[in-house]
Amino acid sequence: SSFKDIGASAEVISSLTFIGVTKPSHIQVEAYRLLLDKGLQHVAIMDQAGSGKTLAYLLPLLQVIREEEKRAQTAMEEGRESALPSVSKAPKLIVLAPTTELVQQVFRVAKALSAAGRESGFRFRSACMTGGDEDRERRAKSWRTQVSQLSDGLDLVVATPGRMLEHLQAKTLDLSCCKAIVLDEVDVLLGDQAAFNPQIDPLRDAAPSNLRFVLVTATLPQHTLALVRQGFPDISLAMG
Ligand code: AMP
Repeated sequence: SSFKDIGASAEVISSLTFIGVTKPSHIQVEAYRLLLDKGLQHVAIMDQAGSGKTLAYLLPLLQVIREEEKRAQTAMEEGRESALPSVSKAPKLIVLAPTTELVQQVFRVAKALSAAGRESGFRFRSACMTGGDEDRERRAKSWRTQVSQLSDGLDLVVATPGRMLEHLQAKTLDLSCCKAIVLDEVDVLLGDQAAFNPQIDPLRDAAPSNLRFVLVTATLPQHTLALVRQGFPDISLAMG
């Protein structure tokens, strides 16, 4: 199938052409199908490394968010809804990954995608947020930068769970507009503990009940699968 066949918008297809991606990988076909389905809430995406999992979740999630925004915009212009500028500044999509390297890797893909949308209008504001810099001065500076990025307005945040939790606790992160949280390399995020990651739990508790969790992994060891089934009993699985 083509990106058009699986429901990618004209804007998405235009951006993909720009970055040289013409045909969806198997996992992208499967993930698109599940993530465009409004009847499903939580989704797990499983396939080997290098199979295109990053675009498999970024594209449909950003497309859905964009379509909802356009609908809200039209409703506002037609006077059916009033503007909520302060609320709409809060991030719509959060991607959590276990390491700074992986956070930066996902962020680069998001940046390239948004840059490719210059022509078609498929653009979004994104930032990457990690903590843990050894140097006190640099640590304070990166916190201040992140706080101003969050208050200026972002569509997508790519972050480590610890740093997102810090922003939640500092009330510099508002989850009320968030549509989805992606847990990339969920097997690593959950580790081999018997309980859900303690940094992720408070984020789950603070998230709106209709928020969608998207779990991404190359492997699903037994104990991870048990945790996932316990945390998300109704999860749908896309496999490459
Ligand atoms: P990932 O598995 O997300 O780390 O992606 C691995 C590599 O495949 C990245 O360099 C992507 O840009 C590239 N890629 C992702 N999807 C496609 C596709 N449908 N066609 C060609 N390359 C792709």
